[in-house]
Amino acid sequence: MTQRSARRLDGIGTTIFTEMSALAARTGAVNLGQGFPDRDGPPEVIARAVTALQSGANQYAPGPGIPALRQAIARHQQRHYGIELDPGRQVVVTTGCTEGIAAALLGLVDPGDEVVVLEPYYDSYTAMITFAGGVRRPVTLRAPDFRLDPDALRAAVSPRTKLILLNSPHNPTGTVLTRAELESVAAVAVEHDLVVVTDEVYEHLVFDDHQHVPLATLPGMAERTLTLSSAGKSYSFTGWKVGWATGPAPLVGALLAAKQWLTFTSGAPLQPAVATALDEHADYPADLARSLQERRDRLVAGLGEAGLTPYVPQGTYFATTDISHLGWASSRDFCWALPERAGVVAVPLEVFYDDPDAPGAGRQLVRWAFCKEVEVIDEALHRLAGADLSA
Ligand code: GLN
Repeated sequence: MTQRSARRLDGIGTTIFTEMSALAARTGAVNLGQGFPDRDGPPEVIARAVTALQSGANQYAPGPGIPALRQAIARHQQRHYGIELDPGRQVVVTTGCTEGIAAALLGLVDPGDEVVVLEPYYDSYTAMITFAGGVRRPVTLRAPDFRLDPDALRAAVSPRTKLILLNSPHNPTGTVLTRAELESVAAVAVEHDLVVVTDEVYEHLVFDDHQHVPLATLPGMAERTLTLSSAGKSYSFTGWKVGWATGPAPLVGALLAAKQWLTFTSGAPLQPAVATALDEHADYPADLARSLQERRDRLVAGLGEAGLTPYVPQGTYFATTDISHLGWASSRDFCWALPERAGVVAVPLEVFYDDPDAPGAGRQLVRWAFCKEVEVIDEALHRLAGADLSA
């Protein structure tokens, strides 16, 4: 039969997160796959959304977002990082960071432009680079350390490079890029006059003594960095899909020009609630990070006891383990067998690489989410401890 779907969808299947959550639902397995918390954010913030729903915030919000939220986002950037923004021209509300990524790439990348992207990459990055007609040039964060190699970054840049797509704290590896690593990105960006789009949705979810440094705060970077974040991870409202983009007016404007044709505008009643979260619950994300750190430690210890030798993440919701000693041909095979073997779902890292068989890449790596209640983590660990996990 004639191919009905557009060529741009060739090679783009169902996102692994949908696939794995469906697998968990079908098998009744404990879902440590898709990264969403099983406890909602502050009740007062939910109450604010209810009030908004009941008091007329039910028609289109302004395209760039309601002024109150744009101002709250600007205050957030000021309070945490000393970044000064004009909420009228330098802040846009998006439908989650995922729309921010889509609008940024559609607004900034021409067909044939190269996009340098950290690998393993979040799958929407590659889909949207493809939709924009761009060509991805991955720079791999290699196991076991998952650090950014400045030489590899430099080697990935060519005269056709348009932008660098960064993500720190990094999903799925849990790497928090150091100031020195970010300086190497800044040096390359300035030298080659590149834009950097940086996904910082896990900005507050960092552990131990690690610190999130926004790339936009480095010398020479404010004028070329488009920063994306969201309320989903910082406030445990992943289903609200409220994110934002901040940066220099021309870059934010390009994103907005594309965004207006994607969703036009984002969910009106949730915007005042997110403004309340940012202004009145400014400590919530740090408390969440402390609680996540405990759950990270619990998961990491338990995975170790189950023979899975985890890498300890510096930030995010996720820990990664190497499974090469178990004899599976791939992390995908392992993850598909896991519900039956152990009643648990995890995410195979191999789907986030151009070449998962390269040294230090993801054919044998598996991601486990710890943004779950302690009892859920314990149940998963109990199941894993009693299971035969070898191929
Ligand atoms: N960010 C979440 C994760 O990495 C998933 C988000 C999604 O499913 N699009 O698990």
